[in-house]
Amino acid sequence: MIDPRSNLYDLTRSELQERFVQWDLSPVHAGRLWNYLYLELADSFAAMPDLPAKVRTRLEAGTRIGTLPTALATESSDGFTRKFLLTLSDAERIETVLMRFTGRVTACISSQVGCAMGCVFCATGQMGYTRHLTPGEIVAQAVHVARILKLSALNPQLSTADGPKPDRLRNVVLMGMGEPLHNYDSVMQAVDILRDSSGLAIAGERITVSTVGVVPGILRLAAERRPSHLAVSLHAATQAERAALIPVARKWPLDELLAACRSYSEQTGRKIFYEWTLIEGKNDTPEHARAVGELLRGLPAQVNLIPLNPTAGYAGAPTRSEAAKRFQQILASEFSLPSTVRQRRGIDIAAGCGQLATVG
Ligand code: SAH
Ligand code: SF4
Repeated sequence: MIDPRSNLYDLTRSELQERFVQWDLSPVHAGRLWNYLYLELADSFAAMPDLPAKVRTRLEAGTRIGTLPTALATESSDGFTRKFLLTLSDAERIETVLMRFTGRVTACISSQVGCAMGCVFCATGQMGYTRHLTPGEIVAQAVHVARILKLSALNPQLSTADGPKPDRLRNVVLMGMGEPLHNYDSVMQAVDILRDSSGLAIAGERITVSTVGVVPGILRLAAERRPSHLAVSLHAATQAERAALIPVARKWPLDELLAACRSYSEQTGRKIFYEWTLIEGKNDTPEHARAVGELLRGLPAQVNLIPLNPTAGYAGAPTRSEAAKRFQQILASEFSLPSTVRQRRGIDIAAGCGQLATVG
């Protein structure tokens, strides 16, 4: 059953203050509540002793702290990646991933239950679309990862990865389940809450929104001067090849997408990350590398190459590392185009790019 009490994670700090005024409560207490929610990461009103009983009673009656219970947590064998299957208030489920790199942690969070875009090689696309996430459900995933970090800072045994232990969550990528720009308003509200400097304080330049290429969303991001980074899933350099992998490319063709990207970079002055899932024999030849180089010529760009991760519904194989290096070399030497090959992390627990799903 859906909980009718409003989720406090849905609200920005100023919205929370307005609610307190409407409820005839002091905005000072709204500030305290905010600190409990995002600095202490409290998950119950009982853990908020500095709030007067009257305030707590009011909050308990009409609101809830939208913590997402963990249905399942798995850890990759190298200890760098943890995946959480989280339960929503209507019993739907989503996945969230915590990735440890030397000295930093990134939370990979979901924006929808499933996805409507249907990319053939993506497990989320293969499961279809169920619904959008609310802002609070998006925020709660970052809070979940922040809590895990807080816990592991207190318990050194829980930390398995190398390097200095990160003190708090600083990086968020919207690259989990779903298409963020299909759920634009909720995602942007969540990003605003994550960025609040007196809350989780995740800097805009450490938040990346990844899109399959929703052209109106890209133009809106630019017009609204949204401070996060943008990643665009390209995967192919011709309309026909792209449409074969990404059905919605028919709706937003490659030339329109590139025009929107150009306009975004001109308006914001920011480079875009272009994601390219490397599929053996399909989009990984030197000719493909040259085609993407030509396509992105003159655009502020960095290419993120992602060797294909296995999913149940797609038979392709990942490009081998030699071919990935050759691809990179062509981009660098012939087009001065920087690129990275994404580290393969969490594949053994199906926590890699495009592997998140909650069925099958
Ligand atoms: N919906 C957004 C963000 C989520 S997917 C988008 O499509 O951009 C994050 C990235 O993983 C995208 O670039 C996506 O194309 C890529 N991806 C999807 N399935 C993959 C797979 N099986 N192997 C490698 N990358 C994959
Ligand atoms: Fe959706 Fe992104 Fe997967 Fe495509 S790759 S189906 S847009 S989550």
